[in-house]
Amino acid sequence: MTLRPLPKIVVPVADELLSGWLARLATFNHCDLVDLLAHVGIDGRYVDVLDFGLEESAAERIAAVARADFELVQSLTISAATPLEAEMTAQFPFQKCPVCSVHGVALKHWRRVWSFDCLICGTQLIPNMPRPDVISPSTKALRRARIGARLLEAAVKDNNVRQIHRAMRGVAFAVAVTRFRGSSIAALQGFNPEVRITCLAAICAVQKKPLLKAAQIKAKVDDFAKASLLKAYSKEPHLLAAVGGIANRRSQGVSSADRAQFAGQGAPDSHNSSQQTWKSTGQREDSHN
Ligand SMILES: [Zn+2]
Repeated sequence: MTLRPLPKIVVPVADELLSGWLARLATFNHCDLVDLLAHVGIDGRYVDVLDFGLEESAAERIAAVARADFELVQSLTISAATPLEAEMTAQFPFQKCPVCSVHGVALKHWRRVWSFDCLICGTQLIPNMPRPDVISPSTKALRRARIGARLLEAAVKDNNVRQIHRAMRGVAFAVAVTRFRGSSIAALQGFNPEVRITCLAAICAVQKKPLLKAAQIKAKVDDFAKASLLKAYSKEPHLLAAVGGIANRRSQGVSSADRAQFAGQGAPDSHNSSQQTWKSTGQREDSHN
C-alpha cells in the first residue's frame, strides 16, 4: 500500500525525539497527531513508546509520509549503551527547556536523569509539571546539583561501577533526608525540583567524607531514613558499622541543617568546589570534619 505523503516537510533538529518531531510534523501539516499516526497505522495512545522502540515497518511508513530517510526516522529514538543508562532514562517527559520547548521541540537528552541544562541553548531545564508550592533552591544548591549531575553522567557513561555506587548512595541519603517516598531513580526523575536538586547535590556532597555524611543522616533517622542507609550499605556491613560508630561519637554535635548541607545551603563545606573530581575514593573516615 502506498501512503499519501504529507504536504509539508519538517526537518528534525539536533537530538530531537521522535514523539516531539511527529507532533511538530502534525502541527505543521494542520492535523492532529493521533490522526497522523492513524494514517501510518500506529495507535496514537502509544506514541511515547515509539521513542524507545520503533518497528522497522513503522519507521518505513513514517519515513514515507514524512518524506524523510528511514535511517533518520530511526535515529530519533532513544538508545542506551548500558542497562543502567536505560534505567536512568525517563520513559516520560519529566523536564524540558523553557526556551527550546516553546516551538514544540522535545529533545532526547532531557530524558536523562543527569541532564540539568539544555545542551542546545544552555538554559536550565525545568519540570514538565511545575508545582507552585516549591521553594526556589539557592544558587549554591544549584551549583552543587550541577556538579553532581556531571559526576553522575561521567560515572554512567564510563560505566564506572564504583563511582556509580557512590553517587547512588548519595542519592539514597538525600531521598531519606527529603522524606521522598519512592526509589532513588524516581526521585531523580521527579517533578519536584527540591527533591531532584537535593539528590543531585548529594552526589557532589558524598565525594568527600561519605561515611560522615551518612552519619549525619543517621543522627536524625526515622524508619525510612534508616531503611535508606541499610539499603545503601547492604553489601558493606563494615561501612554501615563505621557509620554507626561515627554517628555515636557525633551524637552531641549534629546540627539541624543536614538537609541544607546536602543541598549546599549554608554548609561550611566549601572544599566541595567546582574542581570536584572522582579521585576521592578512599573509605577512611574519622569523626573530625
Ligand atoms: Zn534549550
